[in-house]
Amino acid sequence: MFSQPGQGAGSAATAATAAGPAALDALKEEIDGLIVDAINNQPRSLQTRIGPSEMGIPCDLRLGYKLAGHPVCNTEDRMPWKPWLGTQAHDGMATIFQLANAKFPPRPNGDPRFLVEYRVDVGVVNGEDVDGQCDLYVDGLVIDWKFTGGDQLRKYKKNGPGPQYEKQAHLYAAGWEAKGYPVHTVAVYFLPRDQEFRQRYFWHAAYDRQTAAGTVEKVDGIAKLVAALGPAAFPLLKTANAYCQYCPWLRRGSTDLATGCAGHPDATPSDSYDPFRDLIPSENGKPDLFANLLAK
Ligand code: SF4
Repeated sequence: MFSQPGQGAGSAATAATAAGPAALDALKEEIDGLIVDAINNQPRSLQTRIGPSEMGIPCDLRLGYKLAGHPVCNTEDRMPWKPWLGTQAHDGMATIFQLANAKFPPRPNGDPRFLVEYRVDVGVVNGEDVDGQCDLYVDGLVIDWKFTGGDQLRKYKKNGPGPQYEKQAHLYAAGWEAKGYPVHTVAVYFLPRDQEFRQRYFWHAAYDRQTAAGTVEKVDGIAKLVAALGPAAFPLLKTANAYCQYCPWLRRGSTDLATGCAGHPDATPSDSYDPFRDLIPSENGKPDLFANLLAK
């Protein structure tokens, strides 16, 4: 896959021997720059459309900002290192199951046994199809991998995956069902990012299509609201502690939601351990307009 050192190795060795601290610093700077640039510009970092992984976010205002395509204001320099590691691990899992397919005969319909990283349509939001890439489907079981640090893994084992991940799993399942594939169980497979494999945690639940439908309906309602009212819709949307520190629309001290959100009152730094971890809903008593659409 990659080229190997060849005829030029001798001259490279000469150059390395001659390099002083300044040259070494320059090389490290170059290497760091390439890493940061590549990770900041990976497709997941640039994704602007809402997907199943975000549709269960418990903060309606954050969903509203996202659905409105509102300019982000929390531009603190934070390279998505952990999400990138997760992406690499996802690629590794995909390889494992794609290779495993070779051990099984194709299904009568031609499918391999393990359906890896298939795109599924999870619903329609404000007239547009929303799709997502499901990690794994096998025999009616839908699995989403999560690569998780130790502290958070302990919380998932104690409290379950939380509403965002649960809804995401049911949304993928609905997508498979819409494709004509039976689903009986959804699972979030938490795999340790910094511990041994034996620390893994397999959460699962019976597929509930109402959970998926309710999530789509709620997001569709918010999308229609922000499309109709623009930023005037923001004060109508409930907030929740959705790891405000990492929210792209956090603007500390803001008194104007059109310029950013000051954060949910319950948010504390300790709640903001990791932007991709569990979210804890907590309503803040915003005006209960559009309650039928937004309070689900
Ligand atoms: S900062 Fe917190 S409360 Fe405000 S929109 Fe973002 S997640 Fe919601």
